[in-house]
Amino acid sequence: MRLIEDLVLSYRILAAHGVVDAYGHISVRSPSDPNRYFLARSIAPELVTEDDIMEFDLDSNPVDQRGRGMYLERYIHGEVYKVRPDVHSVVHNHSPSVIPFGVTTVPLRPLFNTAAFVGEGIPTFEIRDFQPSGDIIIKTPQLGAALAGVVGRHPAALMRGHGSVVVGASIPAAVIRSIYLELSAKLQTQAMLIAGPGGPITFYDDAEVAATTARQDSARTWERTWDLWRTKAKAELAAEARRSPARSGTDSRILQLWRRAQTACGCGRP
Ligand code: MN
Repeated sequence: MRLIEDLVLSYRILAAHGVVDAYGHISVRSPSDPNRYFLARSIAPELVTEDDIMEFDLDSNPVDQRGRGMYLERYIHGEVYKVRPDVHSVVHNHSPSVIPFGVTTVPLRPLFNTAAFVGEGIPTFEIRDFQPSGDIIIKTPQLGAALAGVVGRHPAALMRGHGSVVVGASIPAAVIRSIYLELSAKLQTQAMLIAGPGGPITFYDDAEVAATTARQDSARTWERTWDLWRTKAKAELAAEARRSPARSGTDSRILQLWRRAQTACGCGRP
């Protein structure tokens, strides 16, 4: 199915852009049942293949677990889908440049074309508002629902001391927003450094945000972006399969362990 292939490729695309590393995940709502979604089993994004995709209900219970490990934070996905019928894809990540904005009072603001959506508002989820101080991951349906409430109608929310959740009407929308949210945070930090403390920075105003996002939608700007990233990720997957035909066969588990060891020692691909 094209949708599942896109989901697999989206894990690679997010990793290639430094938005996810060994952690982070993306899901897609089922096109045949809006009360179900697809998400990888608990595995590093760059190792995800179609065999790793699992189906969940919106309470984040697996439809057919078959002994597979599950992401502890899968509730983020199910609880967002419950309250946002317009959302068909959810990304959770710990992309590094975004983290400082979750732990300070400096809001992310729109300052360039491809991240104009930031101007639609990126609230911050403070987990201490919903539980006593403790582990910061979203490991219960209640915390997932609280986070979904903070996301509200926005394109994303920061998670204090943790990362972010990004939503979209499609896989490309959620992926593109995740990648440009990271870039936006990095560029805003650079602008603040250049401007110095209290120095003026010219952000987009509301009219620029509205006009830019409307033009991107009407001109189907993102089709070119997605086409590029999808093509590159697909070529990379095909090259992997040529190098290691066992990957999709019975030796795939051994290959995965080898790749994990490579990643851990830093001797694999950058
Ligand atoms: Mn997390």
